[in-house]
Amino acid sequence: MKILFVASEVYPLVKTGGLGDVAGALPPALMELGEDVRIMMPAYPQALDAARNKKTVLDLGDPFSTGPLSLISARMPSSEAELLLVDSPSLYRRDGGPYQQENGDEWLDNHIRFAALSHAAAALSAYGSVIGWTPELFHANDWQTGLLPAYLRFHHGNPAKCLYTIHNLNYTGRFPAEILPQVNLPWEAYSPDGLEFHDAVSYMKSGLYYADHITTVSRTYAQEIQTPFAGNGFEGLLLDRSSSLTGIVNGVDYQVWNPAHDPHIAAKYQPGRMGGKQACKTALQQELGLPEDPKAPLFGMVSRLTEQKGIDLILDTLPTLERLGGQLVILGTGEDYWEQLLLDRAAVSPNIAVKIAYQESLSHRIIAGCDMFMMPSRFEPCGLTQLYALKYGTPPVVHRTGGLADTVRGAGAGPDQTGFVFDDAVPELLAAALEEAVDAFNHRNKWDNIVTNGMQDDYSWENSAKTYQTLYRSL
Ligand code: ADP
Repeated sequence: MKILFVASEVYPLVKTGGLGDVAGALPPALMELGEDVRIMMPAYPQALDAARNKKTVLDLGDPFSTGPLSLISARMPSSEAELLLVDSPSLYRRDGGPYQQENGDEWLDNHIRFAALSHAAAALSAYGSVIGWTPELFHANDWQTGLLPAYLRFHHGNPAKCLYTIHNLNYTGRFPAEILPQVNLPWEAYSPDGLEFHDAVSYMKSGLYYADHITTVSRTYAQEIQTPFAGNGFEGLLLDRSSSLTGIVNGVDYQVWNPAHDPHIAAKYQPGRMGGKQACKTALQQELGLPEDPKAPLFGMVSRLTEQKGIDLILDTLPTLERLGGQLVILGTGEDYWEQLLLDRAAVSPNIAVKIAYQESLSHRIIAGCDMFMMPSRFEPCGLTQLYALKYGTPPVVHRTGGLADTVRGAGAGPDQTGFVFDDAVPELLAAALEEAVDAFNHRNKWDNIVTNGMQDDYSWENSAKTYQTLYRSL
């Protein structure tokens, strides 16, 4: 089946979070299953630099009066996966991130930048013959591609089905109503039965309303978003659409995330040959200037620093961590407020290391070198880092929500335990989970069992890709 997978970030070209990982790994897994998938994303400078065999294949005119829009066909840097880069120098060729300027503010023309991405995708239904490839199914992801099913309906008469995946419902792509003519959509769409959301246009709402089917990235999150707890105002619509809503857990690219052959870490290891893990811990303590103490339980976190990720809970439980003789390393970037609070705490504690940066390589060394991994997210659609931590023998400490609830087994699992799970996002319960984790850490046999269980859990993409394949075919 010819499937166009459309996303605003794709690892290893451009990545800010889990969406990039998924967009880099799911399409190749579908290709392994025999599907004919192409990945479409904006031609950001990093993508143009890294992609191979680039060739402009389709001129799409100037639909937004922002200059020419065209399609470049290319290959991924280190695989045969086919890419379609949406090129518009005025929209995408800039320094800064995919969504934000260098100072952290959103790009002011994001409504046009991502309308152009959806427009180009939908246009392939009409002009695919020019490049000899017309999609039979569109797979859109998150608000940046939320207009795609609206364009398919209003401009092309629903030529093919569109699946829309929610990676995080809290980014709603909300813009004032006046932008509607600028993005070439009719006022008819501006309705509660359409893309209107609280007196504004929401690209997320457009995806949720117009797509033929919706998926999200874990079963528990699929349930939670039909309630006020995680629905973010969309719960009514999602409840109405529950027969067209499926939770499919994300997988892990074990080519990239495997301690047996990870080039970023100090020493390799695997179940039954765990000596390297201790070497990774010592190397990490050295690298970050923490006391080199093999017995101190070392907790890690790699995350966007936002309210969602429960940074406040971590700050509130630092006294418990200190009492337990623990060490903590946090790698992240995000809101200034959290960055500063964390840096302040690190400045006064020799057992806390905070690195405000986005560093792929260091993220591997943290996940390998720590003893436990912290993920006290208030809500978590799927979460990938806890899956990486399981594979690296670094049992996660998680809040029982979304994908965390579906992938980490707490003490209730008895001999099958893989981590530590607490029920409510409050500091007291996180503190209790930290105590439980340190207690287990100090009982070697129990600890080894928890570590080995997690390393043996299999979250490779194959199973989830098969579920997507079945869903595509049912559509
Ligand atoms: P989310 O998509 O909500 O940010 P996920 O756990 O699904 O959370 O995915 C986050 C991805 O981004 C992981 O691959 C994680 O390792 C990576 N990541 C987040 N922050 C950083 C950082 N500061 N440096 C390196 N990688 C990071």
